[in-house]
Amino acid sequence: MAKRDFYEILGLDKNATQDEIKKAYRKLSKKYHPDMKDGSDEKFKEVSEAYEVLSDDNKRAQYDRFGHEGMNSQGGFGGGGGFGGAGGFGGFEDIFSSFFGGGGQRDPNAPRKGDDLQYTMTVTFDEAVFGATKTVTIKKDVVCDVCDGEGTKPGTSKSTCKTCSGAGNVSVEQNTPFGRVQTQRTCPTCGGTGQEIEHPCDKCKGHGTVQKNVDIEVKVPEGIDNGQQIRLSGQGEPGINGGPAGDLYIVFRVKQDAKFTRDGDDIHYELKISFAQAALGDELKVPTINSSVMLTIPAGTQSGRRFRLKEKGVKNVQGFGYGDQYVTVTVVTPTRLSEQEREVFKKLADINGENISEQQENIFDKTKRFFKGE
Ligand SMILES: [Zn+2]
Ligand SMILES: [Zn+2]
Repeated sequence: MAKRDFYEILGLDKNATQDEIKKAYRKLSKKYHPDMKDGSDEKFKEVSEAYEVLSDDNKRAQYDRFGHEGMNSQGGFGGGGGFGGAGGFGGFEDIFSSFFGGGGQRDPNAPRKGDDLQYTMTVTFDEAVFGATKTVTIKKDVVCDVCDGEGTKPGTSKSTCKTCSGAGNVSVEQNTPFGRVQTQRTCPTCGGTGQEIEHPCDKCKGHGTVQKNVDIEVKVPEGIDNGQQIRLSGQGEPGINGGPAGDLYIVFRVKQDAKFTRDGDDIHYELKISFAQAALGDELKVPTINSSVMLTIPAGTQSGRRFRLKEKGVKNVQGFGYGDQYVTVTVVTPTRLSEQEREVFKKLADINGENISEQQENIFDKTKRFFKGE
């Protein structure tokens, strides 16, 4: 069935003012309200939906431009009243609540999953690379051990709520913009459960749960990286009405290492070598996360050259092999030359035919060195 035009539903033309829209809505919603003599669920919804759109300048503009199609588009009204596509009617609830103070229709006695918890755990570089077992203390709600979560004093039991006689909701008369209306509300005494606790448990005061510091053992997975998380099923808050407990999410923060830098499963290491080593080549022991390897530096290595040590990186947390270690060479320029070293460098320059205007160490550097006690 084709959807009727919103203006038509409210009996207005396209130039209607907000005031006229409001008036038309009040008149029609009162007429069609399901509790009224001429009430019609269908028509009441229709009127409410039309009003929800036309009373909002942005939604109205969108509707004017694109019609009903515009109401279901992605960027359209997701945030607002939550208009569903196929006969959905999210906006109805909103309007209904605003006028009648009615709550959601969720069954308060239905089993529900407990809340999830999140904990941020800081681990060292090594703990993340190799895995570890750690204990964390988390303050969380646990089922009260005195009443087993019932909330009643041992030996007593819940009784039928006197306010609502067990129905879970009560009738209230309310003044609305379109007159006095009788409507159903969640019972304020029992919160809709239909049951009342006359003798609450001393320990949990009837809540059925108490806060407690709980020690939880956490296995830090080998290869976990900064920002990654694991889920500990059932370690969150206890479930409600016999529902399952929530989950505990552990988010890892990995501390930096003095020697190694981590990039995913790869490890980066900076190796400092001298002029002579760079020019002549050398064989050097390079640390890896596991032990060390001998690395051949070829003669004529430039500063910044990078060597790859295959599969010497971190074991992938999901088991997809190992990362690599990258060794970046930095050639260190000597800062304080002895007289003998100076002669060698000058001689080297001579051999290469370089005409060097040698600079003396400036007074600033000298002073700095003096204060550093070098
Ligand atoms: Zn208790
Ligand atoms: Zn009640």
